[in-house]
Amino acid sequence: MTDYVAPLAEMRFVLDETVGLDAIGKLPGFEDATAELVEQVLTEAGKFAAGVLAPLNRIGDEEGSRLENGAVVTPKGFREAYRAFAEGGWNSVPFEAEWGGQGLPWSVAIAVQEMWSSANMAFSLCPLLTQGAIEALQRHGSPEQKAAYLPKLISGEWTGTMNLTEPQAGSDVGALRTKAVKEGDRYRITGQKIFITYGEQDFSENIVHLVLARTPNAPAGTKGISLFIVPKFLPNPDGSLGQRNDLRCLSLEHKLGIKASPTCVMAYGENDGGAIGFLVGEEQRGMEYMFTMMNNARLSVGVEGLAVAERALQQARGYARERVQSRPVDTKSGETASIIHHPDVRRMLMTMRALVEAMRALAYLNAAALDHAKRGSDEAARNKALMRAELLIPLSKAWSTDRGIDVASLNIQIHGGLGFIESTGAAQHLRDVRITPIYEGTNGIQAIDLVGRKLGRDQGAAMAALIAEMRADMASLSGGGDKDLATLAKALAPALDDLAQTTQWLVERLKSGLPQVLAGATPYLDLAGTTVGAWQLARQAQAARRRLAAGGEDGDYLAAKIATALFFAAHILPHSHGLAAAVTAGADSTLRLAPDQI
Ligand SMILES: Cc1cc2nc3c(=O)[nH]c(=O)nc-3n(C[C@H](O)[C@H](O)[C@H](O)COP(=O)(O)OP(=O)(O)OC[C@H]3O[C@@H](n4cnc5c(N)ncnc54)[C@H](O)[C@@H]3O)c2cc1C
Repeated sequence: MTDYVAPLAEMRFVLDETVGLDAIGKLPGFEDATAELVEQVLTEAGKFAAGVLAPLNRIGDEEGSRLENGAVVTPKGFREAYRAFAEGGWNSVPFEAEWGGQGLPWSVAIAVQEMWSSANMAFSLCPLLTQGAIEALQRHGSPEQKAAYLPKLISGEWTGTMNLTEPQAGSDVGALRTKAVKEGDRYRITGQKIFITYGEQDFSENIVHLVLARTPNAPAGTKGISLFIVPKFLPNPDGSLGQRNDLRCLSLEHKLGIKASPTCVMAYGENDGGAIGFLVGEEQRGMEYMFTMMNNARLSVGVEGLAVAERALQQARGYARERVQSRPVDTKSGETASIIHHPDVRRMLMTMRALVEAMRALAYLNAAALDHAKRGSDEAARNKALMRAELLIPLSKAWSTDRGIDVASLNIQIHGGLGFIESTGAAQHLRDVRITPIYEGTNGIQAIDLVGRKLGRDQGAAMAALIAEMRADMASLSGGGDKDLATLAKALAPALDDLAQTTQWLVERLKSGLPQVLAGATPYLDLAGTTVGAWQLARQAQAARRRLAAGGEDGDYLAAKIATALFFAAHILPHSHGLAAAVTAGADSTLRLAPDQI
């Protein structure tokens, strides 16, 4: 097993050069995010991730969480690690200072989150779900609810969960049946939820479940859903724990990966006429509230794809430097050497590296757009940033999680037979990351969101603006007389044409040919993700060239940035043309066989 080392220099490079952290630090409310503070936060997070969380990753996989007499027992060391995590204030990074948060931008919080997920994805899910609950309450909770729950959740004293899924209601959340009946100023909740992450645990004394349920006579589908706070223990007015609520974890799922993360079947209201729940906001607006926090949740899951890929890359690089096998083709001495000298192994490592750097660039860029959407100087700027952020969300979620699997799989390939043997730990990364394209809206649903909602709502205007920006950047790359940068600009030009043409093709058919549009949605998302990834790496190469020309200190790192962008442009970007063809010409072939003929 290799250790995890937080890629701090790379994170800083992306934040400084392509995300524009400097400008974000000048937005009202983010003034505290000075370069020094960000440096300190990232450095300390890197230490905690590498020193406390990473060593528990393997133990978590081997032991898993288990249910004993109705209580969840997490693997050895997890409970203590959570205590240290909460005491270190790590739960509070992006939240409002009013409730005990540190008020840092999402672009910083996402870099910190990357480290938690690289070090120990199963552990990181608990703070991640708590984050979702905090956001929902911050935006839609009443002042009393905020006062009762936010300080405890933000400090990490209590944790949060999101309860959407039921056996018959997965992607189709509108099919859920959990009931909520009004009783005075509260509600009685009855029903069963499945797959609830950290629905029960031994980290904290209380768990705040956010539960989607249906009130009597509510309309069918998503319109009839309301959102409720259903705490494990009802808090007393002084904040102490009161009555135990009628809810429990019935069982834990046995899973492919993230075994330390308890995935619970939850029962609400088995005994006392219903668990006690408190309505968030208004009745029948639950899905709307969920959607307002989905951007960050989906981005965070995309970051899991990136994070596990980063860990897999570190492991593959370490192994390839040590494992001796065969003679390299360019040596005359006849001596064997480590496999990193073989061109095909270098190709695999470069693929991993290029994908990881593109995923990181995309995720941080997306987080920065969310920061501008929240704190931009005027409404027009905020709206524009929100449109950009929401356009990028399905790419961050789906493209990065699919690529996370590719990278984790390449890690196994680089390990050869040992990659298939559990003791190296390479297999764990692939097993862990495999859930990421499934939860928080499957990647198929992300692709539908991209074409149906994000292109449909403005007839492709936000995508056209993004393409125009990418074209302008490429013009500046090719105009400077640098051969490598000109190569990058030339490689991107056809991909941008493909993206523009397929966008138009989809927009034209959105009203008349929905099956064709949806059949092409996933290749379109892949095309967009690949193109944006190449664009970001080209911008990084440009920044690296600028720093080199100015006598930048870390010459090897900067030269590697340019080499990685060129590799992406040569090996990965050309696939975009095939993806574009699959969007348009491929749609009919997808639908040619009827469902009963496949
Ligand atoms: C480990 C784990 C943790 C989870 N944590 C939570 C949690 O904390 N809280 C929670 O509420 N849920 C959680 N989930 C549930 C998760 O969000 C769902 O599994 C997911 O939304 C998919 O639903 P499903 O499993 O019912 O699949 P289905 O909805 O049955 O989907 C099956 C397949 O059909 C496709 N499909 C479905 N509908 C469409 C459509 N309209 N168009 C195109 N394709 C479609 C999907 O893309 C997928 O490929 C978790 C699941 C797991 C496995």
